[in-house]
Amino acid sequence: MYDYLIVGAGLSGAVFAYEATKRGKKVKVIDKRDHIGGNIYCESIEGINVHKYGAHIFHTSNKRIWDYVHQFATFNHYVNAPVANYQGKLYNLPFNMNTFYTMWGTTTPQEVKEKIAEQTQHLQDTEPRNLEEQALKLIGKDVYEILIKGYTEKQWGRSATELPPFIIKRLPVRFTFDNNYFNDCYQGIPEGGYNVIIKKMLEGIDLELGVDFFEERGAWEAQANKVVFTGMIDQYFDYKHGELDYRGLRFEHEVLDTDNFQGNAVVNYTERSVPYTRIIEHKHFEFGNQEKTVVTKEYPADWKKGDEPYYPINDVANNAIFANYAKEAESLKDKVIFCGRLADYKYYDMHLVIERALEVVEAEFGE
Ligand code: FAD
Ligand code: UDP
Repeated sequence: MYDYLIVGAGLSGAVFAYEATKRGKKVKVIDKRDHIGGNIYCESIEGINVHKYGAHIFHTSNKRIWDYVHQFATFNHYVNAPVANYQGKLYNLPFNMNTFYTMWGTTTPQEVKEKIAEQTQHLQDTEPRNLEEQALKLIGKDVYEILIKGYTEKQWGRSATELPPFIIKRLPVRFTFDNNYFNDCYQGIPEGGYNVIIKKMLEGIDLELGVDFFEERGAWEAQANKVVFTGMIDQYFDYKHGELDYRGLRFEHEVLDTDNFQGNAVVNYTERSVPYTRIIEHKHFEFGNQEKTVVTKEYPADWKKGDEPYYPINDVANNAIFANYAKEAESLKDKVIFCGRLADYKYYDMHLVIERALEVVEAEFGE
């Protein structure tokens, strides 16, 4: 008999498993995939750690979380500075003085501010109702049309006028020559890839891979006093309040016989007509000097039940469905803990997943 059965060997499940074990609890972790790590899993190909489920860059401003992850790995000095390719022309991201120079030839912050004001002034008294209105108000039509519209519409599979404004607020706008994609104080890639972290968290813990909780739900539940569930919350409740929607992705990995394909880890393709959103060249996350290289094209895809659920779609309709499941979850709290990107149906980055898992641990163990 276990104290906890943890469904999901991703980051959320691994943090909980590690912390519970540290407190003398007996835990078992299961995952339906044949590997640990969930979406942060890396596979070594040609000596390169390939981020199998999309590029993952760790970043946070929370010193506690930064210190926390250092128990499990050393982080390198990688700084994410993606480049956008639009019709063969390259622009630095996020939107900064380098981007504006390429776009308009402007050389000073004053000139840039004037240029943006020209394109946004008439919108300053409006409250954006969707992503398009938000982007036009924030940065104007040139940047919107070249760097945002096509990428966003293919990423989300719907018009920017049907998307919530908050998605675009994730992207910084800077009046300095700073290509760092994140505003956070701390950033890096774990040396040896993300598996190093998960392996260390799960060291010595009972683990079973390739098993789906729902196939033998009763038998799994009977093995533990409590379940920690990090899968899809609507599936847990047998979709009784309706199905939550997700955005899917398809990854095309390729080994190339060159040591350097694109000179950067991340190149976004912002035109609507290019079917993928970005090409990742994994070796650059760890400054690799292998003879070959591995690249991944990331294709956004419609999601249907049974596909891997990558991005929750936190629009009004889905959030309303989630609220019903959250109520159900609350009433089960003595028996089941829900946590993670899928169980909380939130667009968490890794640092937020760890923060959330530690919050759950503190609530559970009374610290
Ligand atoms: P998951 O990793 O999804 O793990 C859940 C696990 O539960 C999975 O392994 C799944 O197989 C298992 N499971 C589900 N249902 C069952 C079941 N019924 N039975 C058994 N097992 C089950 N974050 C960043 O900080 N930086 C980034 O650059 C970044 N980039 C990202 C890029 C992409 C394309 C995506 C999709 C996400 C990105 N993230 C990034 C977010 C990051 O992936 C998540 O924060 C993190 O992986 C979530 O961990 P989790 O354990 O909550 O969920
Ligand atoms: N985005 C864009 N152009 C880009 C990169 C991002 O318009 O070149 C928009 C897009 O709408 C995306 C959002 O900004 O969904 C957030 O981007 P981020 O890179 O944070 O997305 P994620 O890491 O979640 O894939």
